Amino acid sequence: MMVLEGKSVFGGIAIGPIGLFEKGEDQVKRYSVEDTEKEKRRFEEAKDTAKAQLAGLYEKALKEVGEANAMIFDVHQMMLDDLDYVESIVNMIETQKINAEFAVASTGDNFSQMFAAMDDAYMKERAADVRDISNRVIRILQGKVAGGIAGDEPVILVAEDLAPSETVQLDKSLVLSFVTKHGSTNSHTAILARTMNIPALIGVDYPSDVEGKMAVVDGFEGKIYVEPDEKTLEHYKNLQAEEENKKKLLQELKGKETVTTDGRKVNLYANIGGVGDVADVLVNDAGGIGLFRSEFLYLGKDTFPTEEEQFKAYKTVAENMAGRKVIIRTLDIGADKKADYFNLGEEENPAMGYRAIRICLQEPEVFKTQLRAIYRASHYGSISIMFPMVISVKEVHRIKEIVKEVKSELEQHGIPYGPVELGIMIETPAAVMISDLLAKEVDFFSIGTNDLTQYTLAIDRQNPKLDDFYDSHHEAILRMIRMVVENGHKENCWVGICGELGADTTLTKAFVEMGIDELSVTPSMVLKVREAVRNI
Ligand code: PEP
Ligand code: MG
Repeated sequence: MMVLEGKSVFGGIAIGPIGLFEKGEDQVKRYSVEDTEKEKRRFEEAKDTAKAQLAGLYEKALKEVGEANAMIFDVHQMMLDDLDYVESIVNMIETQKINAEFAVASTGDNFSQMFAAMDDAYMKERAADVRDISNRVIRILQGKVAGGIAGDEPVILVAEDLAPSETVQLDKSLVLSFVTKHGSTNSHTAILARTMNIPALIGVDYPSDVEGKMAVVDGFEGKIYVEPDEKTLEHYKNLQAEEENKKKLLQELKGKETVTTDGRKVNLYANIGGVGDVADVLVNDAGGIGLFRSEFLYLGKDTFPTEEEQFKAYKTVAENMAGRKVIIRTLDIGADKKADYFNLGEEENPAMGYRAIRICLQEPEVFKTQLRAIYRASHYGSISIMFPMVISVKEVHRIKEIVKEVKSELEQHGIPYGPVELGIMIETPAAVMISDLLAKEVDFFSIGTNDLTQYTLAIDRQNPKLDDFYDSHHEAILRMIRMVVENGHKENCWVGICGELGADTTLTKAFVEMGIDELSVTPSMVLKVREAVRNI
């Protein structure tokens, strides 16, 4: 048995085989083949496997996100049978006597460039689809399965590091736990692990030969036992069963109010990263969605999500929440959340750089596309919007002007939209200090304690060396929260917390005493926070 230590990002026990995360950016190598018939057969078989995978994904998406969103997997199956595409690959294998992977990669590149150059928005979008289907076939030829996990069995996923764009693409049903060598407790990858409600460790220096070995992850103690002896395994199986029992007990709080013993109610909402998380919100009985990190719709893609794509996602979430509040945070890209097509370039201090609302105000068309999608979706549920990383009243004025333009454009076209509350995130010390002025401008504040802590303590939340200094209970942060609540309430502006601190049950009582109106937490923490409020 080997015991490795790291730092816990989320508690819990996982038992299962270790799987190594495969980075998706492997170069496809070109090599010569003698037997071109065999190579063509390899391609045909991989194509059939890809179609079978896509059919499976279609069924899964149909259940989880509805037919309109599932259609893409149908389209991908058809594209794989496109005669020109298939002929090009087969011809390359025959005439150049090269391996199937390389023929698929070259054809994929050629076709996607061809589509990208077309003067038609619909055809342009197909460029990303061709790349997507080609990558799928290549992964199958290389013996890898989409999602960075080789195989269909759930694994303890071990990786050097995981970018948010890689994490969102993982097939959640195949991940029992995350274990990474690098990464910090407050990174978005850590937040995603919490959303997935699975034990996660960072800073684990694992040897290269752990793949396939049986292991136990102890997310409470920050340990991983590789090839555990019988006694250890037995101990953790019992602990896992106890954990399950505790979770069952919490289930009794479903349907109950989030209210203190003396009758003070708190709105308890959940944070999500995409449509797929809504089921967890409902299962955990959250009263609404307090933070929809919309930028995840932009990650792991080759081009901007279209207005239609976004509209469908927001509408699905709003409809599934059936009238409960859904707060969509506008695009918060930049810093650790990167998408190549934004061409953000390298920055010396990305966390303090070109990100979030700064990008949206510089790129009004990108911003307006998102706002149009949100406003259109607001007709189908109760949607509010909040804006990240605000530092001035001037920014809020500019945001409101753009919102006004979007609304009047929709009106001109007779497109309906519902009443939408506007709020801002309080994530910078600047916003805290002028919260009295900002409160006059908006309907609500949502305190993003992750970034607020980073900017107040001058600690890069991505830097694992600083994890021990990142004190989210720092008196400065608690005073700031109190100040924001007081300033907000003077102007009838309700105040919530949507950063990770909102789920810290050792502070729930303090937050309630400060007068916090709302707490928005990762879905798996909803019932624990409800329990904490009910015990006050
Ligand atoms: C925050 O900063 O607290 C927050 C909720 O936003 P994010 O973690 O996505 O930056
Ligand atoms: Mg933030």
